[in-house]
Amino acid sequence: MSSAVGTPAPGAVQPMVKAEGVHKSFGHVEVLKGIDLEVAPREVMCIVGPSGSGKSTFLRCINHLERINAGRLWVNGHLVGYREKGGRLHELRDSEVAAQRRDIGMVFQRFNLFPHMTALENVIEAPIQVKGVRRAEARERGAALLERVGLADRVHNYPNQLSGGQQQRVAIARALAMEPQLMLFDEPTSALDPELVGEVLDVMRGLATDGMTMVVVTHEMGFAREVGDTLVFMDDGVIVESGDPRSVLTDPQHERTRSFLSKVL
Ligand code: ADP
Ligand code: MG
Repeated sequence: MSSAVGTPAPGAVQPMVKAEGVHKSFGHVEVLKGIDLEVAPREVMCIVGPSGSGKSTFLRCINHLERINAGRLWVNGHLVGYREKGGRLHELRDSEVAAQRRDIGMVFQRFNLFPHMTALENVIEAPIQVKGVRRAEARERGAALLERVGLADRVHNYPNQLSGGQQQRVAIARALAMEPQLMLFDEPTSALDPELVGEVLDVMRGLATDGMTMVVVTHEMGFAREVGDTLVFMDDGVIVESGDPRSVLTDPQHERTRSFLSKVL
């Protein structure tokens, strides 16, 4: 990461996420082989693809959990992890990385709630600790968020008193509590029993309706078709094709996409 810096063209609406030639390797294994994409504000992008194609790694790069080896990645106009100075890139300090990450909410396949905290305590922890929000205010907002995800009657329950779907909805509320500008979802329903998938997708659908910018890695093709503005098919570290979800799903242009879809649809 040392060549001259390109910045997004002025004039156009600033993308919420912009990737240009993003490469990521683990040792000698190249996992992302040049990813280019843009996510507009309020857009819902769904990413599908076989296991091992690099979907999680790409989300983790957006959220500073992995560092890219080449290319450029911006969130809301800010280079992820770097600052431009004199045409060179300089790594951000930890505090600056933390500030960038605050704008991004992430929900994982495993909900990772704090087991010793109630739903409400899980939701208010970061606003209090990271943002310095007063406890009373955090509780009020936290309760409203839990209501928004349909858990008004569960605020004082501990994770082990909640179903998987309820825990995942707490995890979504917890991410929203930081008032992110971008939400990343990495297979948020893959660990759930089938009958619990719908309640989580409903919450995500509501977020999309409210205008949240979302990048969703999922195997839920129905959700991708109905809620997604864009569907991206990734395979082996590259974007094979992307476009309107209905077109990609009904009329895929590439054999690799057809082969994948024939297995999952
Ligand atoms: P997907 O989410 O599409 O299933 P991943 O991004 O998790 O794919 O993984 C892509 C490839 O990168 C896989 O071959 C995986 O084994 C490898 N990989 C992911 N994380 C690491 C890591 N921390 N160290 C080494 N290899 C990794
Ligand atoms: Mg994954």
